[in-house]
Amino acid sequence: MPEPINEHRKPRISVVVVQPTPFCNINCNYCYLPDRTNKATMSRDILRTLFERVFASGWAGEQLTVIWHAGEPLVMPVSYYEEAFSLIESLRPPDLQLRHSVQTNGMLLSKAWCELFKKWQVGVGVSIDGPRRFNDAHRVARNGRSTFDKAIAGIRLLRSEEVPFHVISVLTDQSLDAPDEMLEFYRAEGIENVCFNVEESEGDHVSELFASHAPQERFRRFLAHFWREARRDDRIHMIREIDGIIPRVFRPGDGELDNIQVVPFAMLNVDCRGNVSSFSPELLGLKNAAYDDYIVGNVLTHSLEEMQASAAMQAMTRDIHAGVARCRASCEYFSVCGGGAPINKLSENGSFDSGRTGFCALTQMVPTDIILEAFDQLQRHADAQSVQQVLQDLTRRSESVRLEMRV
Ligand code: SF4
Repeated sequence: MPEPINEHRKPRISVVVVQPTPFCNINCNYCYLPDRTNKATMSRDILRTLFERVFASGWAGEQLTVIWHAGEPLVMPVSYYEEAFSLIESLRPPDLQLRHSVQTNGMLLSKAWCELFKKWQVGVGVSIDGPRRFNDAHRVARNGRSTFDKAIAGIRLLRSEEVPFHVISVLTDQSLDAPDEMLEFYRAEGIENVCFNVEESEGDHVSELFASHAPQERFRRFLAHFWREARRDDRIHMIREIDGIIPRVFRPGDGELDNIQVVPFAMLNVDCRGNVSSFSPELLGLKNAAYDDYIVGNVLTHSLEEMQASAAMQAMTRDIHAGVARCRASCEYFSVCGGGAPINKLSENGSFDSGRTGFCALTQMVPTDIILEAFDQLQRHADAQSVQQVLQDLTRRSESVRLEMRV
């Protein structure tokens, strides 16, 4: 049984999500970001103050991941990141391992970006929703045109320049019944690492998939089939929804549960004006008077300790932890999930202080059931030693994937 969250222990920052600009160069029709036409950018002063505060606080763990997430982070020039990475490196305590990562739509990738990624060993995620017909149903430019050609050109460039990357595909009502077509697309494009986000209701966006017939059963069929077919050869190295959950399902009983979305400051999310939020990164930019729009302070005017004591942080922590307590008391998947994603509880149930969501059913319950089903079958058909061996191999492989992804 995982330990209850201790609200009084020292915060431990694992991830800093930096929004260098809220602007995005495309206009996906499932996007929840309210500010994506705003071209404001984060100044060097804000960036410096942010990392001075993080490093001086002593709250950063031994490994810190900095995720550059906007908007579209590559609308900022390469030189912005060269300068930002150098600045952060100059401030970084020597015993702290820091890794940068970007999540991009791939439209602006160029050789110069590839050079930057290689030089700084940046983790790269590219958003593309599979083959053209699925991608262009939702991921469109501001003029409504296709984004597919540019995104796939970016992916091919990453491959030819030997930049490691993973792909995130949003599964929508259209693609959810087509696992073979999705798999064929990844194989044809040499995409080895895949993550699926099922289209969710977040902010003002209401998922048409969630309103559709039996999304949970459809996703179960999709994922089980995709995993089974993908295992027929080794061209797909990682499926996040499987490889990310395996270590949680089979972790030792006393292992620490790691749900950074419910721990104050485990994720520090910062917008281009220096405003700070925590918990789910999607909260940054949303409005809610009861929680001061989810903003706990600003790096230019508040210390992290002041942010910790803010009314918004206290209120969010109280309500998120009440929601986690509900999950702990009522959900048999709690030891795998750790209480879910606050943004989805808020969007779907109207409150942090709530339990099950459609999102958790898809992202936690379905993968867990598929993995346990596969394990049951293995136990029925193999001897105990082989089962142990498979389990060890799977968890070792999944753990290395998890460390590589770090989120
Ligand atoms: S699966 Fe859903 S209900 Fe269960 S612990 Fe996670 S968020 Fe709570």
